[in-house]
Amino acid sequence: MHEFSLAIEVIDLAQREAEKSRAKSIQEINIEVGDLSGVEADAFESALGLLIKDSILDHATVNILRIPGKGRCNGCEYDFEMKHRMATCPKCLCFPSEIKGGDEFRVMSLVVDN
Ligand SMILES: [Zn+2]
Repeated sequence: MHEFSLAIEVIDLAQREAEKSRAKSIQEINIEVGDLSGVEADAFESALGLLIKDSILDHATVNILRIPGKGRCNGCEYDFEMKHRMATCPKCLCFPSEIKGGDEFRVMSLVVDN
């Protein structure tokens, strides 16, 4: 239940940010979840949906932005969309490839309500 602990961390972070700016609630939170981050975006979204009840994020709009995985082949330097970390290059079937994007998991922004 990796996604549950991440959801708790996100709520903690939102709570700290709200305290810092003395906000009573949060209007909006934007979270980026890369396809290669190891976080299951749907599971994370439902975990967060359950856990935000009565938290600072209870009435916030939660936007989860999914970032597609991007890889570059170590063999032929071809850039391609990476569905998973173990993907081989679609051009030359070489492995491994370098991850160029889509491995992020982060809170991009918060809109506080003062
Ligand atoms: Zn290749």
